[in-house]
Amino acid sequence: MIFDVTIIGGGPTGLFAAFYAGMREMKTKVIETAPFLGGKLPYYREKFLYDIGGIAAITAGDLMKELEAQARTFDPVIVLSQLIVQMERRVDGTFCLTSNTGEKHYTRTVVIAIGGGTLVAQKLELPGAEQYEGCCLHYRAENVAHFRDKKVLISGGGDSAVDWALALAPIARFVGIVHRREEFRAHEGNVSKMKNASIRLMSSCRLKEIYGNGERIERVAIEHLGTDESFALDIDEIIVSHGVKPDLGGIKNWGLEIEQNRIIVDAWMQTNIPGIFAAGDVVEYPGKLPGLIAGGFMEGPAAINRAKAYLEPDKEVKPIWSTDHAALEAIHGGSKEG
Ligand SMILES: Cc1cc2nc3c(=O)[nH]c(=O)nc-3n(C[C@H](O)[C@H](O)[C@H](O)COP(=O)(O)OP(=O)(O)OC[C@H]3O[C@@H](n4cnc5c(N)ncnc54)[C@H](O)[C@@H]3O)c2cc1C
Repeated sequence: MIFDVTIIGGGPTGLFAAFYAGMREMKTKVIETAPFLGGKLPYYREKFLYDIGGIAAITAGDLMKELEAQARTFDPVIVLSQLIVQMERRVDGTFCLTSNTGEKHYTRTVVIAIGGGTLVAQKLELPGAEQYEGCCLHYRAENVAHFRDKKVLISGGGDSAVDWALALAPIARFVGIVHRREEFRAHEGNVSKMKNASIRLMSSCRLKEIYGNGERIERVAIEHLGTDESFALDIDEIIVSHGVKPDLGGIKNWGLEIEQNRIIVDAWMQTNIPGIFAAGDVVEYPGKLPGLIAGGFMEGPAAINRAKAYLEPDKEVKPIWSTDHAALEAIHGGSKEG
């Protein structure tokens, strides 16, 4: 089945664009990598937003529900838990998008509304570190039992690093935490707990070298940043907790013009690839107001209008008003004057 438009990303921009595409009678699909819709909104669902046009105050959680209900008005196909990674232009000019599950999605146009993309862990920049990933060097430690009776070193000084140190202290043989700064940047109560637990704190220090046999880590060298002195520790497992950074993932390789993790678009939200448009937090153009939901609410319709014009080059595509929309009147009851 081929769609007129496939919107990648189910955040505020993608959801509003899906509604608008429905208003324009476009056969629409939305693909979201998370198992839920809403983009960043679910992450601050209890907070009030005061800068959504026409709404004095609304929580992010409620805005999310309203956006989803509105987006579903014209029954778009919504696909969850799929990360779009590949794009192939077919001989007839349409697109085939492939997700991380291998599923293929066929579409005539694409609107990219992926915010900053996905969050990827900041890597440990140390020669030879990569070979231990997946066995004894971890960026996401999900299974506490894996560390039972092991000698564990945690690198990082934020909440996640401190949480791991506290979780592992009762079961590991040794837990050390190494942090570049003097103070830990985590929740005060947890830092106090950590100071009173059997955890070796190494502040103003960095992990300088990893020694092992290529399959297992055996030892590390830690450097004190004030004195430049180094010392060795016997270690079996390393957890790196240096935070995350946004990344566009496979979309970076599509041939789009990208600067500083942002897709360059023109005033109509057209990318440099005909038929592919972008909107919301992911775009950059002169005058872009970054990180504003209101921006995505304008850019989404602009991208959809342009996608419609791309599909119907011989017709004049004018912006449309919802007040004149017969299908919406039928759904919501029409005007008060009757
Ligand atoms: C704490 C906080 C408070 C904020 N307060 C305000 C405020 O008061 N007012 C305001 O206007 N803005 C606020 N913002 C900013 C606002 O949340 C963003 O501007 C808005 O969410 C951007 O919407 P978006 O749809 O462009 O991107 P996002 O909300 O980031 O949504 C993008 C979606 O795309 C998905 N995705 C990414 N890559 C892929 C892929 N390859 N395949 C499939 N799906 C993918 C992501 O999972 C995500 O769901 C706040 C943000 C935060 C973090």
